[in-house]
Amino acid sequence: MKKYQNFINGKWCDAKSGKTFENRNPANWSEIVGIFPKSGKEDVEEAIKAARTAFEKWRLVPAPKRGDILKTVGDIMSARKEEIAKLMTREMGKVLTETKGDVQEGIDTAYYAASEGRRLFGHTVPSELPNKFNMAMRVPIGVAGIITPWNFPMAIPTWKIFPALLCGNTVVFKPASDTPATATVLVEILAEAGVPEGVINIVHGGGGEVGNAIVGHQEVDLVSFTGSTEIGIKISEMGSKTLKRVSLELGGKNAQIVMDDADLNLALDGVLWGAFGTTGQRCTATSRLILHEKVFDKFMSILVDRTKKLRLGDGLLPTTDVGPCVNEGQRQTDHSYVEIGLKEGAKLACGGDIGKGGDLDKGWFYQPTIFTEVTPNMRIAKEEIFGPVLSVIRIKSLEEAINVLNDTIYGLSSSIYTKNVNDAFRAIRDIKAGITYINAPTIGAEAHMPFGGVKQTGNGHCEGGWTVYEFFSEWKTIYIDYSGGLQRAQIDT
Ligand code: NAP
Repeated sequence: MKKYQNFINGKWCDAKSGKTFENRNPANWSEIVGIFPKSGKEDVEEAIKAARTAFEKWRLVPAPKRGDILKTVGDIMSARKEEIAKLMTREMGKVLTETKGDVQEGIDTAYYAASEGRRLFGHTVPSELPNKFNMAMRVPIGVAGIITPWNFPMAIPTWKIFPALLCGNTVVFKPASDTPATATVLVEILAEAGVPEGVINIVHGGGGEVGNAIVGHQEVDLVSFTGSTEIGIKISEMGSKTLKRVSLELGGKNAQIVMDDADLNLALDGVLWGAFGTTGQRCTATSRLILHEKVFDKFMSILVDRTKKLRLGDGLLPTTDVGPCVNEGQRQTDHSYVEIGLKEGAKLACGGDIGKGGDLDKGWFYQPTIFTEVTPNMRIAKEEIFGPVLSVIRIKSLEEAINVLNDTIYGLSSSIYTKNVNDAFRAIRDIKAGITYINAPTIGAEAHMPFGGVKQTGNGHCEGGWTVYEFFSEWKTIYIDYSGGLQRAQIDT
């Protein structure tokens, strides 16, 4: 069994306390994937000190050179894709095709970041005065605290760390306790590719200790967090005490609308992938199906039939469609929502219990579950479950569908299946979500596009694409007066 370490100031090291924790395979709980340092405040302190010192040199490395290092990172990740994907499946359960996709997203993000090193565009703007030149350029900020969830153990850290580094910041990274192994491989690769000592640091350990210590620290200038809304609010409150810049990517309650004129086979493939891919544990997972009454019965009978055929199992096996929940707690949450749904009067169309029998007894499996007769006011229609549980709501019109879709505190992803171009454009206009798909499921973000939610899914920052570079840099405005005399803005114009 492999023993992993923290990486601080270019050196691999244990927690100062010597404490450790285990990382186990959710498909086979008796298998220990690795032993990790259970770090504390003192380890975080050392990592922040290293990052602060390293910042003074790293910020002066030309952005194209920083980009070249990230290009090498992408190359190494490509060469190790298969091996990383297998490790990821072992530590968090999703099927191998999906973990390969997760690594690929990291590779795409590396190459995008490498190319951004030769852009990082600023602005030149005419001055209101003669013989004067105005420009604004982006500059690094300082030490970035990066705190990530377990559901995309490679992609999400890369969305944050690569732009942070490219912009000239240094990083203290705390990955989720459920996925520390993939995160460690990412840091290994960054170091191998030539990221200098102190520029990237990883500190393993619990959110309450390591996460808190990062967010509360005076010397951390910005925090990028992805996780639950509950923890996001705490981070926002704590970060505000030192006026940190904080980016939050939080929960979702995403819905797919299927109108009566939709291509039903396409919509079926979409909802199956959206609801049960990654065992429903995506921030963009389809948690609600908003289905037109004219196609309701026909659609439901095929959907339930196809859902019952999905094969639960170890994500490493080619026969598996749906892997386990990430841990026992998440499976309990899923089941508690099934009990809540039943009490609220919804009807189970399939699933509703843990996955049992044979190898399923070794892990945290939950049957793909569908509720019908769900009304928009039920908790299963409003709250994030983060498991393979789909709530189906019947609607009569596009207007009703959009109202139902918008009726949650979240606003991450959304989708509509229709052949009517007018309805599609109305949906684009009226749906309150950061992402809207037309004739595609709620999942499927591409690395070079903005990614983020509205309402209580976030706090207005966007990851992905060109937008994330706004978060990891700040503007410096420069006026160059070459008139040789005093020119007073607003007065001498
Ligand atoms: P979580 O419990 O909020 O944890 C996220 C991260 O925060 C983990 O690294 C966790 O550490 C850490 N943490 C916990 N308590 C903390 C504290 N007091 N201070 C600082 N850090 C703390 O979320 P999760 O269960 O890992 O992930 C699932 C959630 O993430 C869902 O709500 C999902 O919707 C959301 N998510 C959102 C997006 C998006 O882009 N909008 C993407 C993916 C996931 P430990 O692991 O050690 O507890």
